[in-house]
Amino acid sequence: MKLARFIAEGGERIGAVREDGIVALDTGIDRADDMTALIERWPHEHARLREQAREGNAVPLARVRLLAPVAWPSKIMAIGLNYADHIAESGMEKPGEQLWFAKMANTVNGPHDPVQVPRASSKLDYEVELVAVIGQGGRQVEADHAPSRVFGYCVGNDVSVRDWQMRTSQWVLGKSFDGHAPLGPWIVTADELGDPHRLSIRCLVNGELRQSSSTRHLVFSVWDQLAHLSKAMTLRAGDLLFTGTPGGVGAAMHPPAWLRTGDVVRCEIDGIGAIENTVIDE
Ligand code: MG
Repeated sequence: MKLARFIAEGGERIGAVREDGIVALDTGIDRADDMTALIERWPHEHARLREQAREGNAVPLARVRLLAPVAWPSKIMAIGLNYADHIAESGMEKPGEQLWFAKMANTVNGPHDPVQVPRASSKLDYEVELVAVIGQGGRQVEADHAPSRVFGYCVGNDVSVRDWQMRTSQWVLGKSFDGHAPLGPWIVTADELGDPHRLSIRCLVNGELRQSSSTRHLVFSVWDQLAHLSKAMTLRAGDLLFTGTPGGVGAAMHPPAWLRTGDVVRCEIDGIGAIENTVIDE
């Protein structure tokens, strides 16, 4: 099933995406667009909601505005240096330990909304990533049990302000400018997507292919990532894990190809969909 947040007549809603458009769901939740609450209640509600999705009237996607599938995740964690070709182009060593940083909740942005070049920098870069959306979550999750703790997957762009990222040992500021985590276009539930380690993943800038790989090349699998993180922190419904980016980022080009006003960045993952964001000035 594909679940999206979108703006419809009467406000923000959750809908199921079908071939012919999107069906607004009556989730029974106080805030009609609260994806986190829906994920928590999913085991009890999914049969009823699947029926609504089948039977309801669809509105063409072109007539609605899609929003980020999760509005206020309690955590956005992102792993660095997790594809071999990206490690090589960064001039770094393959890390023995998983390298984690946080993106703050202010970074969440819609799948088709603009991304800003901040006043503070002109070194704006893209990173297409598979994003795992936590379902049941929990603490001390063994890798063997990790698949059952993921609710679904979406496409994300770990937008990075490279000079702010690299000038200090902590990456968090350079990774947490407002709106620098566009994601979507919807969540594909884990049961529908199947194995997340066999997906083609691409990023195009103004139609030019910059990144092209497969999630089979992840250094640390989604399951290993979830197991490692949950040794430290309780993972909650709606938390987002950015699982790493393949080679081809702008910083590694000669000369570096920073994103500029008017550029269109398209991130695609087969089996999920695409997000596309236009770059604007702050
Ligand atoms: Mg990244």
